This record gives sequence, structure tokens and C-alpha cells, in this order.
Amino acid sequence: ADTVRLLSSCQVINSVVNVVKELLENSLDAGALSIDIKLENYGFDRIEIRDNGSGIKAADTAVMAVQHYTSKICSHDDLEHLVTYGFRGEALGSICAVAEVAVTTKTSEDDVGTRYTLDLTGSVVSQKPSHLGQGTTVCVLKLFKNLPVRRQYYVNTKKCKEELKKVQDLLMAYAIIKPELRLTLTHNKVVLWQKAKVSDHRMALMATLGPNAVAHLLPVHHQQPEVSQTLTPIVIDGFFPRPGMDCSLASSSNPDKTFIFVNDRPVHQKDILKVVRQHFLAQYPADSALNRYPTVMLNITVPSSTVDVNLTPDKTQILLQNKVAVLAAVETLLVSFYGPGLG
Ligand code: ADP
Ligand code: MG
Repeated sequence: ADTVRLLSSCQVINSVVNVVKELLENSLDAGALSIDIKLENYGFDRIEIRDNGSGIKAADTAVMAVQHYTSKICSHDDLEHLVTYGFRGEALGSICAVAEVAVTTKTSEDDVGTRYTLDLTGSVVSQKPSHLGQGTTVCVLKLFKNLPVRRQYYVNTKKCKEELKKVQDLLMAYAIIKPELRLTLTHNKVVLWQKAKVSDHRMALMATLGPNAVAHLLPVHHQQPEVSQTLTPIVIDGFFPRPGMDCSLASSSNPDKTFIFVNDRPVHQKDILKVVRQHFLAQYPADSALNRYPTVMLNITVPSSTVDVNLTPDKTQILLQNKVAVLAAVETLLVSFYGPGLG
């Protein structure tokens, strides 16, 4: 059974960035407004995430890392109306199978916090009082300690640096979509990046990408006209570069500056990216690459019952039921903002 467990855990948790993503989403699901992420040795020795969220109720702590335990959905119906990032109850248990995990938590009802040490099956093996304030701190030590080949694949190679870059990119996406969130990333005791709480998405873009990258951005909004009463309209909010501006002025070290979200979830939607890219390619046929890859942010809101985020364990690839309509809406927005382009 331990082998089966290890195998399935490997699929959810296959890198540092997966661990960070799962723990960050748990913190966001708990309503945290302040999250501190600390890595040591690129996360392979230690990943620690501290949040100021709701904490874990005493009744839940014994089972929190038990495979498939989740406090977030109760019925299949809930699955159709997902508002939380997590719902499969897979992450904490899977991380326990491949690392040493301790969870410290305190709710507003608890007089004092408790630190729980978990074993590789996700069971609590010991607990002791903790002085930490309200919220949850998850500490993950020695990632892949029982998977030497995988550990070796990363550690002492430049792969571990790539992981750190991926973590930074991931945090950027959440920083942009969650203006109210305060975030810090520390590596080997050095603060690599931090973002303060801000009031809106433009400020969040500025805090994340720098003032130059957002100086030329204009807000866009599109609501698809209601086709029928049964179809809730698709709503798109975001930022596009001002028409005709030279985006190369807004240079940034990040070549991939197109941030796409569906219902506040950062996603890799190749088709949507393609529509956006093609439009800028048509606008700037032979110009610098920067003009063709300008900073763009799109948050697409669709009824949650029409999104299937279960496609891949990390939930970044999603299935859109009405993808054709979503692509058409993005296209309409681009055309109405920039004109039909050269294409
Ligand atoms: P899921 O997020 O799919 O519910 P997880 O394995 O990620 O599953 O977490 C299991 C449970 O542990 C959650 O449902 C939640 O009750 C609790 N939990 C985990 N992390 C936190 C956190 N940072 N704050 C509050 N509760 C948490
Ligand atoms: Mg989760």
C-alpha cells in the first residue's frame, strides 16, 4: 500500500513548484491575506509556508493529511460550483508521502496553537503547543528523501535553479490576481521578492512587474451579450497595452508576460494565448519581439459548472465547456480594442 501511495503522490507532487502551489492555494482557500514562503536549498531541504488564514479546526487536524480528506466539498453538487482552489484532498497527504511534514495551526477559537508532526501516511505522530498566532504554517523538509533518483535529478544541477524561477513565476500570477494579498518569497534567508497588499489589479500588476511594465496598460472589460437565459454570460476583465504604443519601452525581464486566469485560477490555455499572440503579431508584423509579446492580463469569468479543472493533477490545464465562446469573446475584445488589425 505504501508503494501505491508513493506512486500516486509522485504524480501530484513532482517538483518544488507543485508543493508551493498546493500549499499556497490551501492558504488562499483559508482566506489568508498574508503569506510568507521560505525555501532552503531551492526548496529541497525546506519549504515553509506561513499564512494568517482561518487555521485548521481541531476536529480536522487528525485527518487533514489523510488521502482524499477535504473539508471543502461535501457533495458532487459542490463540485459543480467550485469556489475554492483545492477540493480533492490530495495535496497534504501526497506531500507527506515524499517528505517530512509538520503543520502548525491556530484558529480564532483556539487559545494556543498546536504543532503536528505527520508521518508518511499522513497520520499525526506527535503534537505540541506552539506560540504561533492565528493561521497555519506548513513545513516540508527533505523533499523526495525517499525518491533518491528524483532528488538527484534536481539537487546539484541547474534544474533546482529552474524550480526557483518557476516558483517566482507562479507567485507573480497569484500576486496579480489577488491584489489584497501580501506575499513574500525568501530563499536561504534572503528575501528574493515581496509584494505588499494593494487596492486593485493595476496596482497588483505594478507591484509585480514594475511601473514601466504597466505604464501603458489600459483596463479592458467585456461582457458577452446574453444569448439565452440558461447561459450565464462570459465576462472578461484585464489590461491591454494602449493601441499603437511601443511596447518595447515597457521592457521587462520576463518574456512571457501574458497572464491568463479563468475564474481567478492561473491557467495554461494554449488556445487563448494563441488568439492573443496572433493579434499582436498581426499588429506588429516585423517589429521587435517585445512588441509582439507585450504585457497582457486577462481574467475570464465563466460559470464554474462549465470548467473542468480536473484535467491534470496540478489543475493548470483546464477544460472549458464553452471554449469556442470563450475564444470568440477574447477575439471580440481584442478587435473592439485595437480594430481588426492587419490580418
Ligand atoms: P484540499 O485542498 O483539496 O481540501 P489538501 O490536502 O490540500 O486538500 O488539504 C486538506 C485539508 O487540510 C483542507 O481541506 C483543509 O481543511 C486543511 N488545510 C490544509 N492547509 C490549510 C491551511 N493553510 N489553512 C487552513 N486549512 C488547511
Ligand atoms: Mg489543497
